Amino acid sequence: MAERRLKHWGWGYEDQQRPHEEVVAASEGIIPMFGFGQAPQRPAPLDQVELRAPRLESPGGIFTDEKHERAVHALGKSYRDVVRGFYGRFDNPPDLVAFPDDEDGVVEALERAAGWGAAVIPFGGGTSVCGGVEPRLGDRPVVSLDMTRMNRLLEVDMTSLAARIQAGARGPELEEQLKAHGLTLRHFPQSFEYATLGGWLATRAGGHFATGETHIDDLTESIRAITPAGEWESRRLPGSGSGPSPDRMLLGSEGILGVVTEAWMRVRRRPDFKATATIEFPPGDASFSEAARGAIRLIAQSRLMPSNLRLIDSSEAATTMAGDDSATLLIIGFESSGQPVDDRMDQAIEIARACGGRPASRIDSTPGDEDSAEGSGSDRWRSAFLMAPYMRDTFVACGIIAETFETAITWDRFEEFHHSVIEATRRAVAEVTGAPAEGEGAPRVSCRLTHVYPDGAAPYFTVLAPAKRGSEVAQWDGIKAAASEAIERGGGTITHHHAVGRDHRPWYDRQRPDQFAAALKAAKSAVDPDGLLNPGVLID
Ligand SMILES: Cc1cc2nc3c(=O)[nH]c(=O)nc-3n(C[C@H](O)[C@H](O)[C@H](O)COP(=O)(O)OP(=O)(O)OC[C@H]3O[C@@H](n4cnc5c(N)ncnc54)[C@H](O)[C@@H]3O)c2cc1C
Repeated sequence: MAERRLKHWGWGYEDQQRPHEEVVAASEGIIPMFGFGQAPQRPAPLDQVELRAPRLESPGGIFTDEKHERAVHALGKSYRDVVRGFYGRFDNPPDLVAFPDDEDGVVEALERAAGWGAAVIPFGGGTSVCGGVEPRLGDRPVVSLDMTRMNRLLEVDMTSLAARIQAGARGPELEEQLKAHGLTLRHFPQSFEYATLGGWLATRAGGHFATGETHIDDLTESIRAITPAGEWESRRLPGSGSGPSPDRMLLGSEGILGVVTEAWMRVRRRPDFKATATIEFPPGDASFSEAARGAIRLIAQSRLMPSNLRLIDSSEAATTMAGDDSATLLIIGFESSGQPVDDRMDQAIEIARACGGRPASRIDSTPGDEDSAEGSGSDRWRSAFLMAPYMRDTFVACGIIAETFETAITWDRFEEFHHSVIEATRRAVAEVTGAPAEGEGAPRVSCRLTHVYPDGAAPYFTVLAPAKRGSEVAQWDGIKAAASEAIERGGGTITHHHAVGRDHRPWYDRQRPDQFAAALKAAKSAVDPDGLLNPGVLID
């Protein structure tokens, strides 16, 4: 059977691309619903795309200069990447792609690249949304180091509940192998289908747990990496106070210090008690009402630790069909392996009710039950969540700007911050699109809180707006710069979980302490003295 190939642009495999007639049919629903969009165009087929000739000669073996692979490894998966891929604009393809099967292959790729004077970009699922994997390196040749052949579960420690997993395992592969042992990592970012463990570690990814063990950091016991200067492996420990943590240094290092090859991860038994509820609040002036914000804050501060706790503004609820635009939705979920969760759910609902929320649905499941949340607001929202990246490809074909950005801020500054970011974004969207600010055909700037902490939250913004064909990248860059400035001015972070890459550098450079930047540069020169790995990401 022929191997499934990833699309050379956009999300998913080639066989998942909707036929053009289906895109046209979808546009007949989408365009009237939004009041903007254009007759869909077809993506540029790869055989009509001209890629710059490789500047390195492939020695064969783990290396290839095959066109489809170079195109797939030329871009990440942000809107600006998807739209460029759609029109066949691959300005910076890697010269070669390497597919190591083991650590020897990683070492070989690093040594050969060093000999060629080439840079190496570690590549997991390529789902980066911040220019983390795009070889934007001018005249320097580039090898994209694809880790996805190193995708096995190597060892399970049932006593400590930990598993040694290779870095190139994508979400479903990793979960499938753990499932055979009755275990799960339960790290479900929206990019789960394609993103890899190594990518999650290198970007400090945020999973679906809205409170508690949100970041992959919390699930990490020890990491092994290959640096140009040699191996880097920490001890397996449940905790350690021995100075700064070697794992914490690799977490979020975005491929600039070493290539993560495997990690011991904290896993858990699969949950069998679950409860999910949807609470409705009146929409507020600036999308969230004070009551809804109060409820989510108090639940986060109650230490009930729901696994899911999300606030979805009325505009986003309508777009994702989780509700109409008459209410802000609070989604609450609890889960446990072995312990009933209904008590904790009762308490969380009580907090929400006391703040003025109206419980709209609740589903509890216990061992042996089928997951019966089907049809509830939370279920509709979850389906839309997983389908969103596929849908974005259709939006791009229909000339619709569709992108998200995210940040985090403490509660004391939340209201003003949220208001100023959403206003700056709306102004920029109106300016670059020329669309009306209100009413029919107005762009949508919506927000949900994806992760919640006792001391603050991570607002996640979605922009849907009419695009000018051919200028989409410039349009989005204008919107994103305005939003990023507002985030920076308001004291937020340029990213809560999407990482820095190349695109967030101007704001990241202003956010981090100068002495920290100097320390990071020194660390890089210790393990990567010739600047082989992912130049331009995080530091110069
Ligand atoms: C539709 C969509 C939804 C998303 N949802 C989420 C979400 O819910 N939560 C979230 O946190 N992020 C999300 N992201 C962002 C992205 O998926 C994450 O950053 C993810 O962790 C990247 O994993 P990856 O394997 O695709 O890494 P890649 O995109 O391949 O690489 C990302 C960075 O990590 C480096 N890297 C990759 N593998 C290694 C390795 N083995 N060793 C060293 N460095 C490496 C790369 O060089 C690059 O700098 C989303 C992206 C998209 C497109």
